[in-house]
Amino acid sequence: RDASAKTIEADGSITRDVWFTERDENIALSLKHTGNQLYKKDSEYQRVEIYETLAYGNMLTLDGMVMCTQKDEYVYHEMITHVPMFSNRAAKRALVIGGGDGGTVRELLRHEQLEEVTLVEIDELVIEACKLHLPETAVAFDNPRLNLLVEDGIKYIKECADEHYDLIIVDSADPVGPGEGLFTAAFYKEVYRCLTKDGVMITQSESPRFNSAVFVEIYDTYKKIFGQDKVHCYLAAIPTYPTGTWSFSYSAKGSASPLQFDKEAAAAFSRKEGLKYYNEAVHMAAFALPNFVKELLNTK
Ligand code: SAM
Repeated sequence: RDASAKTIEADGSITRDVWFTERDENIALSLKHTGNQLYKKDSEYQRVEIYETLAYGNMLTLDGMVMCTQKDEYVYHEMITHVPMFSNRAAKRALVIGGGDGGTVRELLRHEQLEEVTLVEIDELVIEACKLHLPETAVAFDNPRLNLLVEDGIKYIKECADEHYDLIIVDSADPVGPGEGLFTAAFYKEVYRCLTKDGVMITQSESPRFNSAVFVEIYDTYKKIFGQDKVHCYLAAIPTYPTGTWSFSYSAKGSASPLQFDKEAAAAFSRKEGLKYYNEAVHMAAFALPNFVKELLNTK
Protein backbone atom coordinates (compact mmCIF):
# COMPACT_ATOMS: atom_id res chain seq x y z
CA ARG A 1 0.00 0.00 0.00
CA ASP A 2 2.91 2.30 0.51
CA ALA A 3 4.91 3.57 -2.37
CA SER A 4 7.90 5.81 -2.15
CA ALA A 5 8.87 8.03 -5.02
CA LYS A 6 12.16 9.76 -5.60
CA THR A 7 12.07 13.41 -6.63
CA ILE A 8 15.17 15.11 -7.97
CA GLU A 9 15.03 18.71 -6.78
CA ALA A 10 16.32 21.71 -8.79
CA ASP A 11 19.56 21.74 -6.78
CA GLY A 12 20.20 18.09 -7.63
CA SER A 13 19.30 16.78 -4.17
CA ILE A 14 16.98 13.81 -3.88
CA THR A 15 13.93 13.75 -1.66
CA ARG A 16 11.88 10.66 -1.06
CA ASP A 17 8.10 10.98 -0.76
CA VAL A 18 6.14 8.41 1.15
CA TRP A 19 2.54 7.84 0.14
CA PHE A 20 -0.31 5.86 1.62
CA THR A 21 -2.53 4.50 -1.13
CA GLU A 22 -6.00 3.05 -0.69
CA ARG A 23 -6.39 0.91 -3.76
CA ASP A 24 -9.67 -0.37 -5.09
CA GLU A 25 -10.27 -2.24 -8.33
CA ASN A 26 -10.19 0.72 -10.65
CA ILE A 27 -9.34 3.81 -8.62
CA ALA A 28 -6.97 4.71 -5.83
CA LEU A 29 -6.62 7.51 -3.30
CA SER A 30 -3.14 8.58 -2.21
CA LEU A 31 -2.07 10.78 0.67
CA LYS A 32 1.51 11.78 1.29
CA HIS A 33 2.62 11.04 4.84
CA THR A 34 5.67 11.71 6.95
CA GLY A 35 6.81 8.08 7.03
CA ASN A 36 6.49 8.20 10.79
CA GLN A 37 3.78 5.61 11.34
CA LEU A 38 2.15 6.47 14.64
CA TYR A 39 0.29 3.22 15.29
CA LYS A 40 0.20 -0.24 13.76
CA LYS A 41 -1.33 -3.26 15.49
CA ASP A 42 -3.24 -6.30 14.33
CA SER A 43 -6.34 -6.90 16.40
CA GLU A 44 -8.44 -10.04 16.34
CA TYR A 45 -10.54 -8.33 13.67
CA GLN A 46 -8.36 -6.10 11.51
CA ARG A 47 -5.13 -4.15 11.07
CA VAL A 48 -5.40 -0.82 12.87
CA GLU A 49 -3.03 1.91 11.68
CA ILE A 50 -2.53 5.63 12.13
CA TYR A 51 -0.51 7.65 9.61
CA GLU A 52 0.64 11.22 9.89
CA THR A 53 -0.46 12.70 6.55
CA LEU A 54 0.66 16.08 5.32
CA ALA A 55 -2.65 17.35 3.94
CA TYR A 56 -5.18 15.84 6.36
CA GLY A 57 -3.35 15.34 9.66
CA ASN A 58 -3.44 12.02 11.50
CA MET A 59 -5.46 9.37 9.70
CA LEU A 60 -7.02 6.12 10.94
CA THR A 61 -7.07 3.19 8.53
CA LEU A 62 -8.53 -0.29 9.07
CA ASP A 63 -7.18 -3.04 6.83
CA GLY A 64 -5.75 -0.33 4.59
CA MET A 65 -9.04 1.60 4.16
CA VAL A 66 -9.33 5.22 5.24
CA MET A 67 -11.77 5.63 8.16
CA CYS A 68 -11.17 9.20 9.22
CA THR A 69 -8.65 11.99 9.22
CA GLN A 70 -8.16 14.87 11.62
CA LYS A 71 -8.96 17.50 9.03
CA ASP A 72 -12.19 16.26 7.46
CA GLU A 73 -13.76 13.92 10.05
CA TYR A 74 -16.16 16.65 11.14
CA VAL A 75 -18.18 16.41 7.92
CA TYR A 76 -19.07 12.76 8.48
CA HIS A 77 -19.64 13.06 12.23
CA GLU A 78 -21.73 16.24 12.15
CA MET A 79 -23.91 14.93 9.31
CA ILE A 80 -24.51 11.45 10.74
CA THR A 81 -25.75 12.94 14.06
CA HIS A 82 -27.27 16.41 13.80
CA VAL A 83 -29.58 15.62 10.87
CA PRO A 84 -31.49 12.97 12.86
CA MET A 85 -31.23 14.87 16.16
CA PHE A 86 -32.95 17.92 14.66
CA SER A 87 -35.54 15.81 12.84
CA ASN A 88 -36.45 13.95 16.02
CA ARG A 89 -36.18 16.48 18.86
CA ALA A 90 -37.90 14.17 21.33
CA ALA A 91 -35.07 11.62 21.14
CA LYS A 92 -33.83 10.59 24.58
CA ARG A 93 -31.94 7.35 23.95
CA ALA A 94 -29.35 6.85 21.22
CA LEU A 95 -27.27 3.85 20.20
CA VAL A 96 -24.18 3.92 17.99
CA ILE A 97 -22.91 0.65 16.51
CA GLY A 98 -19.27 0.85 15.36
CA GLY A 99 -17.88 4.36 15.55
CA GLY A 100 -14.91 3.49 17.78
CA ASP A 101 -13.06 6.63 16.68
CA GLY A 102 -15.46 8.52 18.97
CA GLY A 103 -16.53 11.27 16.55
CA THR A 104 -20.20 10.27 16.39
CA VAL A 105 -20.67 10.17 20.16
CA ARG A 106 -18.73 13.43 20.52
CA GLU A 107 -21.38 15.08 18.33
CA LEU A 108 -24.37 13.29 19.92
CA LEU A 109 -23.32 14.36 23.41
CA ARG A 110 -23.63 18.02 22.39
CA HIS A 111 -27.41 17.39 22.57
CA GLU A 112 -28.38 17.83 26.17
CA GLN A 113 -31.79 16.21 25.78
CA LEU A 114 -30.14 12.80 25.23
CA GLU A 115 -30.32 10.91 28.49
CA GLU A 116 -28.57 7.77 27.29
CA VAL A 117 -25.89 7.41 24.63
CA THR A 118 -24.52 3.90 24.13
CA LEU A 119 -21.58 3.09 21.86
CA VAL A 120 -20.95 -0.53 20.88
CA GLU A 121 -17.56 -0.98 19.19
CA ILE A 122 -16.18 -4.45 18.54
CA ASP A 123 -12.48 -3.57 18.50
CA GLU A 124 -10.82 -1.98 21.51
CA LEU A 125 -7.66 -1.26 19.53
CA VAL A 126 -9.59 1.25 17.39
CA ILE A 127 -10.50 3.10 20.60
CA GLU A 128 -6.93 2.88 21.89
CA ALA A 129 -5.38 4.14 18.62
CA CYS A 130 -7.79 7.07 18.39
CA LYS A 131 -7.38 8.09 22.02
CA LEU A 132 -3.63 8.25 21.41
CA HIS A 133 -3.52 9.89 18.00
CA LEU A 134 -6.92 11.39 17.15
CA PRO A 135 -7.58 13.07 20.52
CA GLU A 136 -10.06 15.65 19.17
CA THR A 137 -12.19 12.82 17.75
CA ALA A 138 -11.84 10.45 20.71
CA VAL A 139 -12.66 13.22 23.14
CA ALA A 140 -15.89 11.94 24.69
CA PHE A 141 -14.99 8.48 25.96
CA ASP A 142 -14.86 9.67 29.58
CA ASN A 143 -18.15 11.55 29.40
CA PRO A 144 -20.39 10.23 32.23
CA ARG A 145 -23.43 10.25 29.88
CA LEU A 146 -21.68 7.73 27.61
CA ASN A 147 -22.15 4.01 28.05
CA LEU A 148 -19.17 2.49 26.19
CA LEU A 149 -19.28 -1.23 25.38
CA VAL A 150 -16.58 -3.20 23.61
CA GLU A 151 -18.55 -5.99 21.99
CA ASP A 152 -20.14 -7.17 18.77
CA GLY A 153 -22.94 -4.84 17.71
CA ILE A 154 -24.76 -7.70 16.00
CA LYS A 155 -24.96 -9.66 19.23
CA TYR A 156 -25.87 -6.50 21.17
CA ILE A 157 -28.81 -5.66 18.92
CA LYS A 158 -30.15 -9.23 19.03
CA GLU A 159 -30.28 -9.02 22.81
CA CYS A 160 -31.65 -5.46 22.99
CA ALA A 161 -35.21 -4.94 24.27
CA ASP A 162 -37.98 -4.02 21.80
CA GLU A 163 -38.57 -0.29 21.18
CA HIS A 164 -35.70 0.87 23.40
CA TYR A 165 -33.87 3.45 21.27
CA ASP A 166 -35.14 6.66 19.64
CA LEU A 167 -32.09 6.81 17.40
CA ILE A 168 -29.79 4.04 16.17
CA ILE A 169 -26.73 5.07 14.14
CA VAL A 170 -24.84 2.38 12.28
CA ASP A 171 -21.38 3.91 12.02
CA SER A 172 -19.77 1.06 10.18
CA ALA A 173 -16.84 0.69 7.86
CA ASP A 174 -17.36 -0.92 4.44
CA PRO A 175 -19.23 -4.21 3.94
CA VAL A 176 -16.10 -6.36 4.29
CA GLY A 177 -14.32 -7.76 7.38
CA PRO A 178 -15.97 -7.48 10.82
CA GLY A 179 -18.46 -4.91 9.53
CA GLU A 180 -19.99 -7.21 6.89
CA GLY A 181 -22.80 -8.35 9.18
CA LEU A 182 -23.79 -4.70 9.72
CA PHE A 183 -25.02 -4.59 6.11
CA THR A 184 -27.49 -7.51 6.23
CA ALA A 185 -31.30 -7.49 6.23
CA ALA A 186 -31.29 -9.67 9.37
CA PHE A 187 -29.33 -6.98 11.23
CA TYR A 188 -31.55 -4.10 10.04
CA LYS A 189 -34.67 -6.05 11.08
CA GLU A 190 -33.26 -6.20 14.60
CA VAL A 191 -32.50 -2.46 14.47
CA TYR A 192 -36.12 -1.81 13.41
CA ARG A 193 -37.41 -3.90 16.31
CA CYS A 194 -35.27 -1.97 18.82
CA LEU A 195 -36.47 1.46 17.64
CA THR A 196 -39.28 3.27 19.46
CA LYS A 197 -42.38 3.87 17.34
CA ASP A 198 -41.07 7.24 16.15
CA GLY A 199 -37.45 6.08 16.09
CA VAL A 200 -34.96 6.70 13.31
CA MET A 201 -32.08 4.64 11.92
CA ILE A 202 -29.13 6.38 10.29
CA THR A 203 -26.39 4.59 8.40
CA GLN A 204 -23.46 5.59 6.31
CA SER A 205 -24.57 4.20 2.95
CA GLU A 206 -21.41 4.30 0.84
CA SER A 207 -20.81 6.33 -2.31
CA PRO A 208 -23.45 6.36 -5.04
CA ARG A 209 -20.71 7.04 -7.58
CA PHE A 210 -18.09 4.56 -6.51
CA ASN A 211 -19.99 1.37 -5.89
CA SER A 212 -23.47 1.96 -7.22
CA ALA A 213 -24.48 -1.72 -7.06
CA VAL A 214 -23.87 -1.82 -3.29
CA PHE A 215 -25.61 1.54 -2.90
CA VAL A 216 -28.73 0.29 -4.73
CA GLU A 217 -28.76 -2.94 -2.74
CA ILE A 218 -28.47 -1.15 0.60
CA TYR A 219 -31.44 1.15 -0.13
CA ASP A 220 -33.53 -1.72 -1.46
CA THR A 221 -32.99 -3.56 1.84
CA TYR A 222 -33.92 -0.51 3.97
CA LYS A 223 -37.10 0.09 1.95
CA LYS A 224 -38.22 -3.52 2.40
CA ILE A 225 -37.88 -3.16 6.17
CA PHE A 226 -39.00 0.44 6.83
CA GLY A 227 -41.34 1.00 3.85
CA GLN A 228 -40.81 2.64 0.44
CA ASP A 229 -41.55 6.21 1.53
CA LYS A 230 -39.78 6.01 4.91
CA VAL A 231 -36.23 5.90 3.59
CA HIS A 232 -34.34 9.04 2.54
CA CYS A 233 -30.84 9.49 1.20
CA TYR A 234 -28.68 12.51 1.93
CA LEU A 235 -25.24 13.49 0.75
CA ALA A 236 -22.10 15.19 2.01
CA ALA A 237 -18.71 16.02 0.51
CA ILE A 238 -15.95 13.99 2.20
CA PRO A 239 -12.62 14.42 0.40
CA THR A 240 -10.86 11.34 1.81
CA TYR A 241 -13.57 8.80 0.94
CA PRO A 242 -13.67 7.25 -2.55
CA THR A 243 -15.07 9.78 -5.08
CA GLY A 244 -15.60 12.44 -2.36
CA THR A 245 -19.39 12.12 -2.60
CA TRP A 246 -20.70 10.20 0.38
CA SER A 247 -24.22 9.16 1.31
CA PHE A 248 -26.14 8.60 4.52
CA SER A 249 -29.53 6.98 4.89
CA TYR A 250 -32.35 8.20 7.12
CA SER A 251 -35.04 5.57 7.78
CA ALA A 252 -37.99 6.40 10.00
CA LYS A 253 -40.10 3.80 11.79
CA GLY A 254 -42.85 6.38 12.34
CA SER A 255 -43.48 9.66 10.58
CA ALA A 256 -40.42 11.73 11.58
CA SER A 257 -39.55 13.51 8.34
CA PRO A 258 -35.95 14.66 7.91
CA LEU A 259 -37.14 17.87 6.27
CA GLN A 260 -39.44 18.97 9.07
CA PHE A 261 -37.23 20.46 11.71
CA ASP A 262 -36.81 23.68 13.64
CA LYS A 263 -34.47 25.65 11.39
CA GLU A 264 -33.92 28.44 13.88
CA ALA A 265 -32.95 25.97 16.57
CA ALA A 266 -30.57 24.18 14.16
CA ALA A 267 -28.96 27.49 13.15
CA ALA A 268 -28.54 28.60 16.76
CA PHE A 269 -27.09 25.20 17.75
CA SER A 270 -24.62 25.25 14.86
CA ARG A 271 -23.40 28.71 15.90
CA LYS A 272 -23.27 27.95 19.62
CA GLU A 273 -21.36 24.71 19.16
CA GLY A 274 -19.03 26.16 16.52
CA LEU A 275 -19.86 23.39 14.03
CA LYS A 276 -17.80 23.31 10.86
CA TYR A 277 -20.21 21.70 8.38
CA TYR A 278 -23.76 21.24 9.66
CA ASN A 279 -26.21 24.13 9.63
CA GLU A 280 -29.92 24.45 8.81
CA ALA A 281 -29.31 25.18 5.10
CA VAL A 282 -26.86 22.28 4.69
CA HIS A 283 -29.41 20.02 6.42
CA MET A 284 -32.07 20.92 3.82
CA ALA A 285 -29.70 20.90 0.85
CA ALA A 286 -28.19 17.51 1.70
CA PHE A 287 -31.50 15.87 0.71
CA ALA A 288 -31.48 17.46 -2.78
CA LEU A 289 -30.26 14.58 -4.91
CA PRO A 290 -28.64 14.78 -8.33
CA ASN A 291 -30.55 12.96 -11.07
CA PHE A 292 -28.07 10.07 -11.28
CA VAL A 293 -28.63 9.32 -7.58
CA LYS A 294 -32.44 9.54 -7.95
CA GLU A 295 -32.24 7.13 -10.86
CA LEU A 296 -30.16 4.67 -8.85
CA LEU A 297 -32.65 4.83 -5.99
CA ASN A 298 -35.51 4.02 -8.36
CA THR A 299 -33.73 1.08 -9.93
CA LYS A 300 -35.49 -1.47 -7.75
N1 SAM B 1 -16.39 6.71 9.51
C1 SAM B 1 -15.98 5.46 9.04
C2 SAM B 1 -16.20 5.19 7.58
O1 SAM B 1 -17.30 5.32 7.04
O2 SAM B 1 -15.22 4.81 6.95
C3 SAM B 1 -16.52 4.32 9.83
C4 SAM B 1 -16.10 4.34 11.25
S1 SAM B 1 -15.06 3.00 11.69
C5 SAM B 1 -14.53 3.63 13.19
C6 SAM B 1 -16.23 1.72 11.91
C7 SAM B 1 -16.06 0.86 13.14
O3 SAM B 1 -17.01 -0.20 13.14
C8 SAM B 1 -14.70 0.20 13.26
O4 SAM B 1 -14.01 0.75 14.36
C9 SAM B 1 -14.99 -1.29 13.44
O5 SAM B 1 -14.14 -1.93 14.38
C10 SAM B 1 -16.44 -1.23 13.93
N2 SAM B 1 -17.19 -2.48 13.72
C11 SAM B 1 -17.11 -3.31 12.66
N3 SAM B 1 -17.92 -4.35 12.85
C12 SAM B 1 -18.53 -4.18 14.05
C13 SAM B 1 -19.47 -4.93 14.78
N4 SAM B 1 -19.95 -6.10 14.33
N5 SAM B 1 -19.87 -4.44 15.98
C14 SAM B 1 -19.40 -3.26 16.47
N6 SAM B 1 -18.50 -2.53 15.80
C15 SAM B 1 -18.07 -2.96 14.61
